Amino acid sequence: MDNEQLIRRDLSVLWHPCTQMKDHEALPPVPVRRAQGAWLEDFDGRRYLDAVSSWWVNLFGHCNPYINAALREQLDTLEHVLLAGFSHAPAVELAERLLRIVPPGLARCFYADNGSSAVEVALKMSFHYWRNRGEHGRTRFINLSNSYHGETLGALALGDVALYKETYRPLLLEPLTVPSPDCFLREPGQSWEAHSRAMFRHMEEALARHAGSVCAVIVEPLVQCAGHMRMYHPVYLELLRAACDRHGVHLIADEIAVGFGRTGTMFACEQAGIRPDFLCLSKGLTGGYLPLSVVLTTDAVYGTFYDDYASLRAFLHSHSYTGNPLGCRAALATLDLFERDPVIADNRRRAARMAQAVADLADHPHVAEVRQTGMILAIEMIRDKARREPYPWQERRGLAVYRHALSRGVLLRPLGNVIYFMPPYVVTDEEIDLMAAVAAEGIDLATRP
Ligand code: PMP
Repeated sequence: MDNEQLIRRDLSVLWHPCTQMKDHEALPPVPVRRAQGAWLEDFDGRRYLDAVSSWWVNLFGHCNPYINAALREQLDTLEHVLLAGFSHAPAVELAERLLRIVPPGLARCFYADNGSSAVEVALKMSFHYWRNRGEHGRTRFINLSNSYHGETLGALALGDVALYKETYRPLLLEPLTVPSPDCFLREPGQSWEAHSRAMFRHMEEALARHAGSVCAVIVEPLVQCAGHMRMYHPVYLELLRAACDRHGVHLIADEIAVGFGRTGTMFACEQAGIRPDFLCLSKGLTGGYLPLSVVLTTDAVYGTFYDDYASLRAFLHSHSYTGNPLGCRAALATLDLFERDPVIADNRRRAARMAQAVADLADHPHVAEVRQTGMILAIEMIRDKARREPYPWQERRGLAVYRHALSRGVLLRPLGNVIYFMPPYVVTDEEIDLMAAVAAEGIDLATRP
């Protein structure tokens, strides 16, 4: 088998995610035969540095020997069993260990099998909590502009990226959308903290006006990843936690993308010293191996569902693969690696290297901003820097960077005009320098008049 053969077969049977399939007439998909560490290899032996951790899931490299060994053992012991009425060691042990590392006060784990499903669970649980308490008037959710929470209808409704959402709007519940504390939009000279703090007044107003009909506020802590890697200051989360308490509504933290060290701490909420009422985790949870997600919540929430069967208060939500043992085992091996090695501390050095490697780009005439939160670094291209005028999306400048990077053996997958790095935690200094050099070349090419 070579690249061409696989591509031909692929294009005659597959429908790829998040893709206009006609684009593949000009740029076929890259067929990956195998992968190792931060590198993917195609059927013709070409290699690509996975600078985006395969959609932000991979933490410790592809085909990590430690996780592979754990999975092999699990495979010969128990591949899957339903989690209703039955239990198994990986699900129990993972819940125990997660509860030890998340912000204190979370006490229960409910598994699902992907990020969107976790968001659906949190949304339904919050709504159902209020019903169980007799508050039937609570039917609404507050979200942030430019947010993203997944693609299933509930999760899509709670997001605000028009590109994914607009077509389906007639099918979706309507959240109350509050302007994001996104620091790209701060005034010149204003600090991230001052901007995020000032933007909180919109949230305060929305809560003051609507609290009685609201179940929960949902946010992506610190980085709105799918929303062009826009970032904000932890002070916003501090203010939000206090306001949710004051107004008596839940706080849902969607750490599906930012959890497990991406922002420089194990969980982004730690930087604000807060505990959400619902914490959604997925992606890095299994080290990037298998689809698994989990919603962690408090005893207070759990307690409103705990009653005699006939009360009909139970949370009767299920997915066939809830708590799949292989997924849980991959997650346990991933947590082992966090315990075995000083990953978070080592990442501080990697993050500094990333910053240093792209420092020159801040002065590029078509770079509006280089921003970074921990292991997430983003470079925003712009048509007119002085007037802050973006490139029209139709020009697809990011796609030009993508194509250039592929030709140089690096997988960068820009979001519109934003190029970003979110590499696995095994990336070396030389690999970081390669990512940065290729991004700089790509930006030069893509921003030529
Ligand atoms: N929430 C956030 C913050 C995400 O970034 C994503 C995925 N990009 C999701 C939810 C949805 O996760 P999944 O793709 O596994 O459904």
